[in-house]
Amino acid sequence: MRIDILTLFPAAVNAMMSSSILGRAAARDIIKINCVQIRDFTTNRQQQVDDYPYGGGWGCVMMAQPLKACLDHVTAEAGPDCRRRVIYMSPQGKRFDQTEARRLVNDYDHIVLVCGHYEGVDERFIELCCDEEMSVGDFVLTGGEIPAMAIADSVCRMVPGVLSDPACYEGESHWDGLLEYPQYTRPEEWEGLSVPEVLRCGNHKEVAAWRREQQLIRTSEKRPDMFAAFQPQTKEEKAVYLRLTGREPLRYDCRLATAGDMDALLAIAADARAFMKECGVNQWQNGYPSEEDFAEDIERGALWLFTHEEEPAGCVAVCPWPEADYESLIGRWLTEGDGYGAIHRVAVRKPYRSRGLAREMMQLGEDLLRARGYASVRIDTHRNNTAMRKMLEKRGFSCCGELRLSTAIEPDPWRVGYEKVF
Ligand code: SAH
Repeated sequence: MRIDILTLFPAAVNAMMSSSILGRAAARDIIKINCVQIRDFTTNRQQQVDDYPYGGGWGCVMMAQPLKACLDHVTAEAGPDCRRRVIYMSPQGKRFDQTEARRLVNDYDHIVLVCGHYEGVDERFIELCCDEEMSVGDFVLTGGEIPAMAIADSVCRMVPGVLSDPACYEGESHWDGLLEYPQYTRPEEWEGLSVPEVLRCGNHKEVAAWRREQQLIRTSEKRPDMFAAFQPQTKEEKAVYLRLTGREPLRYDCRLATAGDMDALLAIAADARAFMKECGVNQWQNGYPSEEDFAEDIERGALWLFTHEEEPAGCVAVCPWPEADYESLIGRWLTEGDGYGAIHRVAVRKPYRSRGLAREMMQLGEDLLRARGYASVRIDTHRNNTAMRKMLEKRGFSCCGELRLSTAIEPDPWRVGYEKVF
């Protein structure tokens, strides 16, 4: 993995990135983190990198030319034969998280992180030279250096060989939707507090069970939003889940929907529509999906009905045919051509919300399309549908841009398109 950080403060960034674990990994040639001075690529005598904004206003804006020349230099040095991603650090970008870090480490071997400063950078540089913008949170910093260091660090620690074993990061917070268990080290007793007995007993099975239980407990306490999306798998997890929530995890069945399911399907869609309205999401508000939409899905063998103890709980259309409305994003999707399948009409009835059903339906869709040999799966959702967008991003989907629906009669036809390559 090679990471180039384009910055006005290479010495400060380099000092941080070359110490400790990352420094040792670089010395062993497992990773290369290169901090490059943007100022070295100016063509004016004063080595000026910024100028006043057109239209007036406060502060200065970084000029496109030195940034582009600096980028050209590192791309030439890394060579043409690498999977490269140029990312501009920006408070307007996609929110960085562990899922994003996993995507970057899996999909690329050369990452260029561009650090803005002052008021930001000339928009034309972002438009022409950057593949995406990334933010470390909804706040504004004076420069992109801290975000770039955070991103480079979290990506590099997952490069094979940087940590002694993948187990080092696989059990950690945010890996599988839970936070990590509490950790202790010597002494056994400190300030009157002792290390939990179970960790001192030497019984690995008991330790593992205790730690898993702690993961569930602390996630439910510290991050109820994450815990709401968690679906227990093992008998032990289910028991802890029941204790914490007072609810049994639900078991769903699924089958292809038939014409006889129409009333149930329309009721599911109405429930989902009402919920989106409650959340301020202007999607499906003109009666979509209609009886005709569902009838077409059923005829094409694409509609799946999920039930819980025979009760209709949700539906999803897994469509192995190209979607005309996706054509406007050609060139921005992750794949070319029509080798993709699409997932549409994901809807959950009220009693089954936040109980793992949407995830199960997405899993079914992805499994079916993968098994049928499709290269990828695409889906769209309303830009304000943050719950859906979060779930998609967690599942490894990438946002490819905005598209306008032509077929559905929607008050707000703008959607964001997502794709995941198998
Ligand atoms: N005027 C810009 C902010 C400029 S802040 C705006 O309002 O959108 C200066 C630089 O700091 C940016 O160019 C960016 O590179 C970096 N930066 C600031 N906050 C950031 C954040 N939350 N995530 C990533 N980069 C950020």
